[in-house]
Amino acid sequence: MDIFALHPTSKKHFFITEATYFEQTQRRPQWATKTKSIPQMPLYLATCPECKNAIEIRELDRVRGENNRAPMAPFGKHYQHDVSGLDIVYSQEAYDRCSLRAKVSLGASEPRQNTAFNAEILIMLVEHAAVIRGTISNVIGIKVSSKLFKSMMKKFIEESRYKCKGVIPSNLPFAMAYWMESQSLVGQYVFDVKMVEAVNNSHHFCIDDEQIIPKEWKKIREDAKRAGRLPATKMSWGAHNLAFYFGRRVHRGAEHNGELNHMTLKVTEHPNNKQTGREIYSTKIEYSNSHFFKAIVAEERQLAQPEKAQETLRKKIEAGEMAFTFIAPLLPKDWKPSWRSQTNPQ
Ligand SMILES: [Zn+2]
Repeated sequence: MDIFALHPTSKKHFFITEATYFEQTQRRPQWATKTKSIPQMPLYLATCPECKNAIEIRELDRVRGENNRAPMAPFGKHYQHDVSGLDIVYSQEAYDRCSLRAKVSLGASEPRQNTAFNAEILIMLVEHAAVIRGTISNVIGIKVSSKLFKSMMKKFIEESRYKCKGVIPSNLPFAMAYWMESQSLVGQYVFDVKMVEAVNNSHHFCIDDEQIIPKEWKKIREDAKRAGRLPATKMSWGAHNLAFYFGRRVHRGAEHNGELNHMTLKVTEHPNNKQTGREIYSTKIEYSNSHFFKAIVAEERQLAQPEKAQETLRKKIEAGEMAFTFIAPLLPKDWKPSWRSQTNPQ
């Protein structure tokens, strides 16, 4: 697995890197210990965020490169023993059901039965909604509007996709994008150059001031401008549609060796809103499971910088409140997003 928690009661998860592991555990003996076997070897422990059994962090500094192997990035593996220092009593039953146990594909749709961990995923969706929105924006190459973000979040929750075994904390933004049914792109602002080109080459749509609009409307607007008057009608999105979705296949790269995962973004045009459209754009989207946690750390850093804090917090609250609308009914009544207690000290 690629994430760890400190204690079985911790709600916070971290992506496994050498620096994060040593910073978070401060190399204290509860976590940085030794094997029982002779000769004793360093044994680095943590907690599985899902099943709350212990995990062993492999490939940390002192044991790396054994037998002249190429160094690998560290990763977590369940440690099937009790660990008294961390108050962990090994549970075989929890281990058997844990979705972090094997290499599960992001596309695995079997529902996770662990309700406590499903709730932790919901909390992450609220607390890190702005990071998720920003990541999806970068992945697709558009500035995800409030309307689109709400629509995606609603579907992800209502269709219980967040419970899929392939949806784990480290791939959350990518999994959310992947599990979306086709979503309309009309009216979105695009910054990806290749997507701009594809839209401009479509039959019915073009980019105007970075925004995807019907060609028809652009013409009306330009004619009016030439005639020195305002357009006679109100802006209309027209009868056609342009939408995106992700292809079924996901490639899981050997991330420990620096290989990226990838999936395929597809854009389709639907004249007269026809159900099946014509594919106008298809591109390989590469991603790393470390991306999301790095982006969360970057947000935390911005929140600590006086010149960026206000705007970062505004975006965090805006996206978070959108997510909370759909998620609140699924969480305990007394749970509140962190900013509500910050802005409203009781
Ligand atoms: Zn586990």
